Amino acid sequence: MKYISEFRQQGLAQQLAKAIAQTVDPDRHYRLMEFCGGHTHAIFRYGVQDLMPDNVEFIHGPGCPVCVLPTGRIDNAIQLAGQHDVILCTYADLMRVPATGRNSLLKAKADGSDIRMVYSTQDALKIARENPERQVVFFAIGFETTTPPTAVIIQQAQAERLANFSVFCNHVLTPAAMQAILDAPQPVSSAIAPGIALPPASMQSIDAFLGPSHVSTVIGSQPYETFAEHYAKPIVIAGFEPLDVMQSSLMLIRQLNEGRCEVENEYSRAVTRQGNLKAQALMQDVFELRPQFEWRGLGLIPNSALQLKASYADFDAEQRFNMPAIQASDVKGCECPAILRGAKKPQDCKLLGTVCTPENPMGSCMVSSEGACAAYWSYGRMRG
Ligand code: SF4
Repeated sequence: MKYISEFRQQGLAQQLAKAIAQTVDPDRHYRLMEFCGGHTHAIFRYGVQDLMPDNVEFIHGPGCPVCVLPTGRIDNAIQLAGQHDVILCTYADLMRVPATGRNSLLKAKADGSDIRMVYSTQDALKIARENPERQVVFFAIGFETTTPPTAVIIQQAQAERLANFSVFCNHVLTPAAMQAILDAPQPVSSAIAPGIALPPASMQSIDAFLGPSHVSTVIGSQPYETFAEHYAKPIVIAGFEPLDVMQSSLMLIRQLNEGRCEVENEYSRAVTRQGNLKAQALMQDVFELRPQFEWRGLGLIPNSALQLKASYADFDAEQRFNMPAIQASDVKGCECPAILRGAKKPQDCKLLGTVCTPENPMGSCMVSSEGACAAYWSYGRMRG
């Protein structure tokens, strides 16, 4: 398949592995954060880590929209479905994310709440048109990739005067999360020779970023330039196929060796510097910045999420149902918050593969198809 099979060729992977091995400086350790869960799954599914020299380490980042949603927002959705007799429409990944008291949207559905899985935002709008006597709420999550389709249905609902439709908005912003990670204390230099024991992951620095691919098709590569400039961190926008990840890693290693801190675009087949201006205009019409938003693992981050503008307030479920802010705790022993900060890895969690499995997830990172724990489980890394 075009744009897929040619980015999975074994011979090219071996050539790239050789080029990386010849390029790395053996006297330093390279810590590359792959921002997206899509990168994490490519790394483990295709054995990319095994093709890297020992001193090139991938740190898993927070770019999994299901994973970073805090428990309180799932509790909100369960309450909404149970107490207000609404039809709650959601993507399937969210159904099994643990909520407070070992609850989940799936359990709430089994207990009688009308919670429906949808494949697109348009499905939710269709359900609202077909059920004019019921309130229908779309549980909207995701980074900038999934925000424009939510903007479209809000505009459509307003144009059609759909009085029974609203959106529970949880859309979050990638650059804000990247900034939060960079603003966290990172006191230890990464220039560590192989064979020397590494300090705990939470005390190490991140050298460079494999930047988001799908998000960047919308926002472009320009928003990352400030991170390269002010934080001196190289960034390469990287596609989700294994050769994309390897080529991008080589580009980052070259930047680090040469002391350059630039934004480079490996995923040039889909990403431009400006991004998708039409999608950006849609988002700007419907949404505005929230003053702050809670992220699982990263805490409260200012200006890191979106809410509906006043001109679309009629379609804001939080206002329509007067939804409270809920502070909730994660399951005891679950290391999702530290994993999402890049401070720990799934194998650091004692529950991985014992108490916590995809059939019985204790945290969001085991549920989502983009979650780091799901990647370790699916591709056997928790045994390594
Ligand atoms: S293995 Fe399960 S409990 Fe442990 S961090 Fe991952 S999701 Fe949380």
